[in-house]
Amino acid sequence: MADVVISRFPDLPRPDAPGPIAVVRDFVNTDDRETGVDRLVTAAGLTAYLQEEGLLQGSVRASRRDLDQALELRAVLRAALVAHHDGRSDPITGLGAAVERLEVHLTWSEDGPRLEPRRPGVQAALARIGIAAHEAARDGTWPRLKICSSDACEWAYFDHSKNQSRRWCEYGCGNRAKSRALRARRRAAT
Ligand SMILES: [Zn+2]
Repeated sequence: MADVVISRFPDLPRPDAPGPIAVVRDFVNTDDRETGVDRLVTAAGLTAYLQEEGLLQGSVRASRRDLDQALELRAVLRAALVAHHDGRSDPITGLGAAVERLEVHLTWSEDGPRLEPRRPGVQAALARIGIAAHEAARDGTWPRLKICSSDACEWAYFDHSKNQSRRWCEYGCGNRAKSRALRARRRAAT
């Protein structure tokens, strides 16, 4: 899983983020709240996404059950990212249960111990997303994955800022909000 710099869905550039965190970020961003485009409406959409991301190979196809599981996982991960934004650390309802359903096991090689999917196919792909969150938590980048403060946007982004205080995604939401606030102040002043 290399650092991802390809297109945003459908066609904006994806900013840099550490490998594992980009996997989670891009999965959450399959639901683009701003455009209303959700790539995971059907099992075929899930299959296509996982294939494009290199998480699923061969002729395996996602089932309706896989889709339900993916949507559940995406919802709880999004909730966790919202909590990061608000600096909350209270448990996310359903997060524990959703990750418990991902079948992973511990392996050990010359590179040391690591988590791997226990089952093949789509189950493995979903497990890899959970493992990516685990790796991000271990390398300390997890709390930097957040949801944009703009209600119209709600895009998942990686906060590169030194003090971890960035509130907006990389697509100019902060600037838009700033100029809106400025216009409002000017109106109020005149
Ligand atoms: Zn935004």
